[in-house]
Amino acid sequence: MSEDIREEIAGIARQLEEQLRFYREIGVTEIGGAGSALKAAAAAGSRVEVVAASSGSTEPPEDEIAMPKKRPPTEQAVLFGEILTDDRAATRPAGAALPVLEAQDASLEAIREDIGECVRCKLHEHRTKIVFGEGNPAAKLVFIGEGPGADEDATGRPFVGRAGQLLDKIIQAIGLKREDVYISNVVKCRPPGNRTPERDEVATCEQFLFRQLALISPKVIVALGSPAFQCILRTKETITKARGEWRDWNGIKVMPTFHPAYLLRSPDKKREAWDDMKKVRDYLNSLPD
Ligand code: URA
Repeated sequence: MSEDIREEIAGIARQLEEQLRFYREIGVTEIGGAGSALKAAAAAGSRVEVVAASSGSTEPPEDEIAMPKKRPPTEQAVLFGEILTDDRAATRPAGAALPVLEAQDASLEAIREDIGECVRCKLHEHRTKIVFGEGNPAAKLVFIGEGPGADEDATGRPFVGRAGQLLDKIIQAIGLKREDVYISNVVKCRPPGNRTPERDEVATCEQFLFRQLALISPKVIVALGSPAFQCILRTKETITKARGEWRDWNGIKVMPTFHPAYLLRSPDKKREAWDDMKKVRDYLNSLPD
């Protein structure tokens, strides 16, 4: 066996070992063979649910598909580009819509072209590369983060740093590959020092995310962390309160869950994130092909 092949096999073995360590960490104990990854993950998932139930979880049984809960009107907002407080949102006319209802672009490339070498907000001053988003333009599942970090700023690709590596594992744990899904952020340029994007920056940039979402029209959006969740759902609720409960964005199911960077800092929260991701996996599996 040549040295190259030996190294390649060793590399694959290392990756597998790491993935298995992650499965163990989040409570997955069984992994099926090729073609049954989703079923195997489902089987492993039911074990985790038993654990959750014993700790007082009110989660519905595995075979029950959680449908989006009707949000009280106070969580919605009226104005495009403006994050309203719950009180102000409560005054919106009944039936007013969340931002962006229809695809208005021919392609994701057209949206990227529209962004151009953007100087619309102050984030352009420190950025190296705009991080537009990447993945399957017909994805059923879209992940939305907050904004690029240092690695993303350097490469122009979303979620490629440590948090991105964890996101890759989460994607694999639900039986998908990174190239099956689409990944983007609320703001497309790195906030200096990785601070949370400011209100005016979000207000300027979110239109591009909404246009991406309207065009991709996924079945599920996973909002990673409070900024993504609050931006899409026009709410001030925190992710800690909202995680794990289906929401609705223009008829698309939204699952709020913890940001992978937070999970790296608080690994004990991985179990909850896994519970949320199982709901996503099970809902996607329940859809006709
Ligand atoms: N964190 C995010 O929110 N987005 C990225 O692309 C990377 C890290």
